Amino acid sequence: TSTCLIVLGMAGSGKTTFVENLSKYLTANGAAPYIVNLDPAVRQVPYPVNIDIRDTVKYKAVMKKFGLGPNGGIMTSLNLFTTKFSGVLDLLEKRKFEVKHMIFDTPGQIEVFTWSASGSIITEALADSFPTVIVYVMDVSTSTSPITFMSNMLYACSILYKSKLPFIIALNKIDMVDPTLVMKWISDFEAFDVAVEKEESYAANLSRSLGLILDEFYGAIRTVPVSALTCQGFPKFVEAVEAATLEFNTEYKPEMDKMK
Ligand code: GDP
Ligand code: MG
Repeated sequence: TSTCLIVLGMAGSGKTTFVENLSKYLTANGAAPYIVNLDPAVRQVPYPVNIDIRDTVKYKAVMKKFGLGPNGGIMTSLNLFTTKFSGVLDLLEKRKFEVKHMIFDTPGQIEVFTWSASGSIITEALADSFPTVIVYVMDVSTSTSPITFMSNMLYACSILYKSKLPFIIALNKIDMVDPTLVMKWISDFEAFDVAVEKEESYAANLSRSLGLILDEFYGAIRTVPVSALTCQGFPKFVEAVEAATLEFNTEYKPEMDKMK
């Protein structure tokens, strides 16, 4: 059956581009994905979308009707859509034997999904019915300073623990910035320590302490360097999805069933 991929990441990290070109790549390999757009405020969706939140809720109208700003409008639109999510699940169920990947593009501002009731409800509903994997798109070009690197890893860890699902970091934009250094920092605390040692500041000291504790956690996360623009790294990414799906079925699913 299908694996659901929930694509998360900071605004501008490349989620939409990633979904667009991953879709092209999978289609070219004979397995077109099923795609759901959960961003109510996106102007144009550059990929063939199967379910689009914008068909159900008009974000501008929601802003006007409830007297909200852009963020409140996006949040409320997602809430309204979530009340109809059982209909979405029905549509997904019908396709689960023919489609290998179901991909969910999420709102530009990551908190709207990761720190909202709707985001949790959607994530839990999907994981209840399908193997579900979180894909965290991380922009390597904003992670080359030890401090921003650590902020990004801290965020990744917080989503990891909140979602309690298999997790893949898609380290994006490697066509722009060589990911070797960042990959080394992820797998080797000593290397990170050397980099952070050069800086003397409160933030540097904090990053160093966090690295000492957290590397054990993020070192275990599957990280795949990719370019959403050139499709570099996509074969490895698809392999990582397969491994994460297996992990969902053998480790996560039995735990979830125990709690029922
Ligand atoms: P989103 O806000 O996470 O959906 O990000 P977008 O997909 O809209 O991308 C934000 C910007 O980053 C756009 O200008 C993209 O063209 C650019 N971008 C995304 N992925 C890549 C990549 O792999 N390499 C390069 N060089 N630029 C990228
Ligand atoms: Mg986007």
